[in-house]
Parts: sequence; C-alpha cells; structure tokens
Amino acid sequence: MNPEHLGQILAQAPTPAYVLDLGRLRANLAVLDAVQRRSGAKILLALKAFSMWSAFPLIRQTLHGVCASSPWEARLGREAFGREVHSFAAAFSAADLRELLTTSDHLCFNSFAQLERFRPLWQDSGVSVGLRVNPEHSEGHTPLYDPCAPGSRLGIRRAEFEGRSLAGIAGLHFHTLCEHLFEPLERTARVFEEKFGEYLPGMQWLNLGGGHHITREGYDLDGLVALIGHFQEKYGVQVYLEPGEAVVLNAGVLVTQVLDVIHNQVDIAILDTSAACHMPDVLEMPYRPPLFGAAEPGEKPHTVRLAGPSCLAGDVIGDWSFDTPLAPGDRLAFGDMALYTMVKNTAFNGIQLPAICTFEPDTGEVAVVRRFGYEDFRGRLS
Ligand SMILES: *Cc1c(COP(=O)(O)O)cnc(C)c1O
Repeated sequence: MNPEHLGQILAQAPTPAYVLDLGRLRANLAVLDAVQRRSGAKILLALKAFSMWSAFPLIRQTLHGVCASSPWEARLGREAFGREVHSFAAAFSAADLRELLTTSDHLCFNSFAQLERFRPLWQDSGVSVGLRVNPEHSEGHTPLYDPCAPGSRLGIRRAEFEGRSLAGIAGLHFHTLCEHLFEPLERTARVFEEKFGEYLPGMQWLNLGGGHHITREGYDLDGLVALIGHFQEKYGVQVYLEPGEAVVLNAGVLVTQVLDVIHNQVDIAILDTSAACHMPDVLEMPYRPPLFGAAEPGEKPHTVRLAGPSCLAGDVIGDWSFDTPLAPGDRLAFGDMALYTMVKNTAFNGIQLPAICTFEPDTGEVAVVRRFGYEDFRGRLS
C-alpha cells in the first residue's frame, strides 16, 4: 500500500477497524470491467466473501449482480445490490427454496433428487434453474477448500447424469478453484468440457464459479477472455463468473493497536484485534496476513509475536520483526482484510467487533460507516 495512504489510515481510523480502500476497489473493478467488455461475460460479486453493503452502489456500477449462498444473502443482494441474484446451496429446505424463488434470478441445485423433488415449486417460477456439476478435477489445494476432493458433497458427478432428464435446465455451474490464476481454470474447463460439453447445446448459460484471482498481478487476462469466448461462441451460452476475493483483493486493512507487551521466551504483543474473532481464516485456512512496515522474524532487530486478547491459547496471528520495539498504543495495519473477515467475524469472549470504515485516497479521509456496540453482542443471544 502507498505509504502516504497507510499513514492517513493509521492516523484517523479507530481501532480495531476494517478500512475499505475505495481506490483499490475502483482499480479492481476497472480490471473486471475490462474483462466483461472484452469477453461479453457477466461478473457477479460472491456475497459470502464480502457483504459490506454500503459499498454496493459503487460495485453495482460495474458488476452485474451477486451470488448468494442462502436466503439472507439473496435478500441482501436483492435489496441492497439490486441487479441479478444467483443462488446455490448444497441443499435447500422447502421453505428456503420458496423464499429464494422470490429473490433469485438464477438458482442451482446440487443433486437430481432436489431438482425433481422441488420441480413443482420451481418449474413455473420464472427463475432460471441450473445444476452445479463436479468435474472431478482437483487443482491441488487443501481438502478444506477443494470441492473436487474424494467424497466431496459439492456438485453432481458426470456418472450421475446417466439416464436423467435435463428438462427445464437452463445452465450448468462449476466452482472448483480457490485463489487461482488462469492456468488452473484452463485445465479445469478442458476437463469440464470433455465430460459435460454434450449438455451445453440448447442451454442458456454457463457459470464458471469463483476462485479466480483475476485482479492479482500476473493473471492472464487475455487467456481468460479467449476461454470465455470459446464457450460463448461454440455453445451460444452466456458465461458468468462469480469471484468474491478478486473484487476486493488487497482492498482492505485491519487497523489495530498494541495493548500490552509481555515476555515468555519471545516478546508477545497483545493487540485489540483477535485472529479467532476478526480474521478467522488466519487460523482456519491457515494463512499469514501481510503486515505493513514489518518484516519476517529475525530480519529486523525486534521480533515480536502478535496475538489477540481472547482466552484462546492459539489466538496468535504470527511473528514479525520491527525496527523498534513495540509499545502500548502503537498502531499496526494488516493487509488484504476486506475479504472473508467482516462476513466471518464473531464476538466470542464478548470482544468488540471492529468498526467498518472507508478510505478515500482522493481526499485522504477515513469515514466510519458503522460502529458496533454492546447491543449488537447482546442482540444475537437471548
Ligand atoms: C466461495 C464461492 C465463490 C467465491 O469464491 P472466491 O474464492 O471468493 O472467489 C463463488 N461461488 C461459489 C459457489 C462459492 O462457493
């Protein structure tokens, strides 16, 4: 991040706070816009990665809609985004499906059993119905994030298509990638086409899911445009992409301050933000977030372990090194904190939720969009 912008954020933001960098969001949207214009594909925001709805008026200027994993996400998409809503879940209850058929434009089933059981509900609903398929082609990530892992429950395998009616089916959907550049998509699409290509003629759309790191440095945009063109021209389908991460990649920071520094074999700084509560993917995925102004352990003179205030022994974000020792009141900013953070956080231990802010690089100003208080904690319990 530009050091001047970082300084402005650290000086103004409350702590803890997620700060959305509107400049970086606009830059990401410009990349996605170019892909849409060049290829004719429609790109949707995956709400499960990022649902900060105060930013939807900006995002909807570029993206065609949202993809939702539940009735609540679909309703938020309908109310706050207002363009296309595409829904998928591993299974629906009849009640959820009834609601989704009033809030969605497209809906994908995850099994032929649900497709047929609910046919009377969806067939005259006007919603465009598709099937999520499993191409059974893994691109080598951890099983937690691999919908093609053996025994996966996500997507219908090719063998299950034998003898099935595709009456009323308007499209196919696959989602198998996670933080991938173009080449894994190209390999997956080739396998998908070999297995499922025979079903595409006569369909209206093909949804390539999410996990495309389109806005990351080095992504082969020309390759992506060509691949989309191939499917649209050969089969006459509208191609959709539904990235979450790529929309807000590197577009948010989590600002925190040091509460105390203790010593037990290593220096440990206790922060007012928690890995467990505010950035759970650090522990779940697991991954090491970028930290501005810090280096790998041992590279700079003062190595410190950064940890959260909760009672969880493993509430540790990681070890970094600094030019000067950390002291109470020092402010730090973790990078790439817009995605899979606000949507996943919890008030475990009753720890305060970070405020939600925006940063406008044109004026250098941080605006607090929302603060959370005791009432939000209490309101989720009874
Ligand atoms: C998670 C998910 C996405 C978004 O994935 P990103 O990795 O955030 O791009 C899109 N579609 C489906 C079906 C998903 O499960």
